[in-house]
Amino acid sequence: MAYPPCKGLVMHITFLGSGNAFVPQRDWGCVLVDDSILLDAGPSMLASLKRLSRNPAAIRHLFISHFHGDHFFGLPFLLLEYYFVTRTDEPLAIVGPPGVEDVVTRTMTLAYPDIMERGWPRPLHFQEVVPGAVQTIDGLDYEAVEVEHGGDVLRAFGYRLHLPDGILSYSGDTAMTDAIFDLIAGARALVIEAASQEASIVHLGREALRTILTRVPPECVVFLNHLDTPSAEPWRGLKVIVPDDLQSYDLRVTANQPPEVHYV
Ligand SMILES: [Zn+2]
Ligand SMILES: [Zn+2]
Repeated sequence: MAYPPCKGLVMHITFLGSGNAFVPQRDWGCVLVDDSILLDAGPSMLASLKRLSRNPAAIRHLFISHFHGDHFFGLPFLLLEYYFVTRTDEPLAIVGPPGVEDVVTRTMTLAYPDIMERGWPRPLHFQEVVPGAVQTIDGLDYEAVEVEHGGDVLRAFGYRLHLPDGILSYSGDTAMTDAIFDLIAGARALVIEAASQEASIVHLGREALRTILTRVPPECVVFLNHLDTPSAEPWRGLKVIVPDDLQSYDLRVTANQPPEVHYV
């Protein structure tokens, strides 16, 4: 259903994908904010951008939550796009767990060793997260919150983006942890994983999600992501938006008012 864009728009959120690594009816979870900020870069990200006729050069920030392939294996294809199709000299900021520059360099070298000999196709600004600090890169303030996902082997982070009119929180993949309550504090929008119905040592599960929803600020709009189901049916009754792939939402959130969400 289409609605006119709302006046006073504060956030424009597009789901380039909304699935976990296994569900066949959804592409890998990947969220585009205001056409310029990517939250993770699943393998199908570039194809989704093109289906929506969004400009790849408009992307100025990429936040990688953790180094599982379903969250960043789309980056080599995006960089390939910048070499051959969409040229730009504007920098791209890439934020990620410690070692992000090395991981991205090794991944790109593995994917396209001959092309990498040319150097990066546009300036890349890498920044490693420092949990607990407000960090800034290329004009955008954010906080990283360490979550529970990969045990001692893999560090994983959620993000709090300080957008002009409010905080957007993004969980990445996580099991239940008190850190999630730090992540969602004061948020105006939350994109949270719903990777499985049952809780595990790596994902939330339905009951954990219910608990989290009791602590979400009333003026916050909650979107599920990284879904394990093709339909919204298992999540019926929860106060959440279950997106479809390639669906966009305009959000207007006013202090002390219920949020307005328009599908566009
Ligand atoms: Zn993961
Ligand atoms: Zn994942």
